[in-house]
Amino acid sequence: MALIMQELSAERNIEIPERVRDAYTLFRPSPLYRAHRLEQALGTPAHIYYKYEGGSPAGSHKPNTAIPQAYYNQQEGVTRLATETGAGQWGSSLAFAGALFGLEVKVYMVRASYDQKPYRRLLMETYGASIVASPSPTTNYGRKVLSETPDSPGSLGMAISEAVEDAATRDDTKYALGSVLNHVLLHQAIIGQEAIEQMGMAGESPDVVIACAGGGSNFAGIAFPLVGRNLTQGAKHRIVAVEPEAAPSLTRGVYAYDFGDTGMMTPLVKMHTLGSGFIPEPIHAGGLRYHGMAPQVSLLKENGYIEARSVHQTAALEAGIQFARTEGILPAPESTHAIRAAIDEALEAKEAGEARVILFSLSGHGHFDLAAYGSYLEGKMQDFAFPAEKVKEALAALPKI
Ligand SMILES: *Cc1c(COP(=O)(O)O)cnc(C)c1O
Repeated sequence: MALIMQELSAERNIEIPERVRDAYTLFRPSPLYRAHRLEQALGTPAHIYYKYEGGSPAGSHKPNTAIPQAYYNQQEGVTRLATETGAGQWGSSLAFAGALFGLEVKVYMVRASYDQKPYRRLLMETYGASIVASPSPTTNYGRKVLSETPDSPGSLGMAISEAVEDAATRDDTKYALGSVLNHVLLHQAIIGQEAIEQMGMAGESPDVVIACAGGGSNFAGIAFPLVGRNLTQGAKHRIVAVEPEAAPSLTRGVYAYDFGDTGMMTPLVKMHTLGSGFIPEPIHAGGLRYHGMAPQVSLLKENGYIEARSVHQTAALEAGIQFARTEGILPAPESTHAIRAAIDEALEAKEAGEARVILFSLSGHGHFDLAAYGSYLEGKMQDFAFPAEKVKEALAALPKI
């Protein structure tokens, strides 16, 4: 109920509970780095800063919301959480948070990732969660998909349907979502709040703020406190969301009411969507394989407060490798989309001879995503063009509102 109140709250600030702050001290504040070596390699006068969320136990920004979600559920007597995971980052985060607060965690993991990422699954199991590949034979929705497509690789939208069904059919269980929703974005705002303080310590203010956007939570996390400055204090930060070319909801989707899941079980939300029936190609950035976008991010885009662009996965990975070779950190494939855009901004600044200040969100590390790097390094990575026909079909099936 506390989370539902946050979902609907119009308050500008909501206090972080003491026990959540205490758990945050395991990895927060997260570091803000200046990418001096990347700047040198690019020969740019731009100053590039990045906020590194990969130092959390699960390796991404997702524990920022997993911890308060587990806390509020535990406070209200819930003993079991059900959720989905694509790349495994959210499942790992909720498994970790469940361990901190003594909750059972059940994770429906997208089949493609389940097969490709055994170590993500083992991390979740080490934290004490139980994992099943989705579509699974354990839910009505999963059985339906399997009967039609026995070798389905799954998708985030399908796994959400299974986790929602699990929670809806058991008294002891609530559903937890790792992105998209208002309360998730609220929890992630700690990234931008810290970044503002840290940029202040460095005596700088970002001209442009960049993050990758799957469901929109790390983007909102770093950007919303700065959007707030634009809206209330006349600041002029440019804000850029970066999507994969294979699932570009903000740049190529429509702004409409749609389901958050493929099984059409969630409430309708108004957002940029490619259609809830759209199943993105299996790009390596599993966390960006989603048909929709957070409603709050969508509204800001619709009203022109933020920009969006899309990039191909090979261009993103190339930027990620340049980053690893200069800054040392191996970024998650999702995060490499933000790095691509940050490098492009820095090169534009070089062209224009501007000392542009760039801040980006490095949402996670890629230690469990080495298969993506392997595929790139062996020259086997392929790009997927924008799937116009599939999207057209999925959009034709949007609920008529
Ligand atoms: C999940 C994930 C994303 C995408 O989710 P958002 O809600 O858009 O932030 C991006 N980066 C990493 C490392 C992730 O784990």
